Amino acid sequence: MEGTPKRPSNQELLLQEILQEALELPLSGEVANYIPALASVNPNQCGIAVANLDGEVHMAGDANVPFSIQSVSKVYGLTMAMLRMGDDLWRRVHMEPSGQAFNSIVQLEWEHGIPRNPFINAGAIVVADTLVSHYSSSKSAFTSFVRNLADNQDIYVNQGIFQSEKSHGNRNAALAYLMKSFGNIEAEVEDTLDHYFFQCSIDMSCADVARSLSFLANRGVQPHSGEQIVTRRDAHRINAILQTSGMYDQSGEFAFEVGLPAKSGVGGGIVAIVPNYGVICAWSPRLNQYGNSCLGMYMITRLAEKLGLSVY
Ligand code: GLU
Repeated sequence: MEGTPKRPSNQELLLQEILQEALELPLSGEVANYIPALASVNPNQCGIAVANLDGEVHMAGDANVPFSIQSVSKVYGLTMAMLRMGDDLWRRVHMEPSGQAFNSIVQLEWEHGIPRNPFINAGAIVVADTLVSHYSSSKSAFTSFVRNLADNQDIYVNQGIFQSEKSHGNRNAALAYLMKSFGNIEAEVEDTLDHYFFQCSIDMSCADVARSLSFLANRGVQPHSGEQIVTRRDAHRINAILQTSGMYDQSGEFAFEVGLPAKSGVGGGIVAIVPNYGVICAWSPRLNQYGNSCLGMYMITRLAEKLGLSVY
């Protein structure tokens, strides 16, 4: 009947219950502060969204509040680069876990400027370099790609974070120059870094992120549009690297405890892919020692346990 408020679905009730549990936990973790603009976010925000393959998105808490996606952007960048480069991409970046911090530089020297995987910073910078080389305007191509995937034209870069990343990006610049010295960066380093910082500085909500990556849970086909975004083989490959390398140096533990391919970012977002079911995105800014959102980890772990979502 028109005007009757919609009753929450069972899934929404479950999300609300898990959110409530998370909010009652003792506070732990710290907001990322090595990018000064990230440190000014309200640390108490918390949301979760699940995009199911029927196109429905279920939500609880701050699931509609845009946050800085940071390294979750590496999933979109990788998808675009795989589409553009095909198998040539894997000559410039490998697919092994690194066992090092996300912004570590030591391994790159030993391994001649070829990053271990596309989800550590060095790997994502190589991916950004391929986008800069293959698109006349890689930043607008990136924004359009993400907007279309999320079916939301209101997705923007956060200029404050973008400028803050640019002026505090010395370690990323060091990675890029080292790779350039090995011939693994083709464009000008400044242009490659500009793209990389731009994509990290995009703001999206949990609902946007979950909806946008639904194709990874559906063998490459975006459920709400029916569009084949990537081949089934590439959806498999992206999920495999997410599983082994998406959660920084806690990827093994996440696979062990939760059993889902996932990617997190230092903005406090975590996205987890549940093949043949849907995509979960949880966000809360306080991070644990590995750089993963404390409450985000808690909520995804609980949901996966309660619904038996592990892929194993
Ligand atoms: N823009 C951040 C950096 O490059 C991304 C870090 C992250 O979310 O892992 O340091």
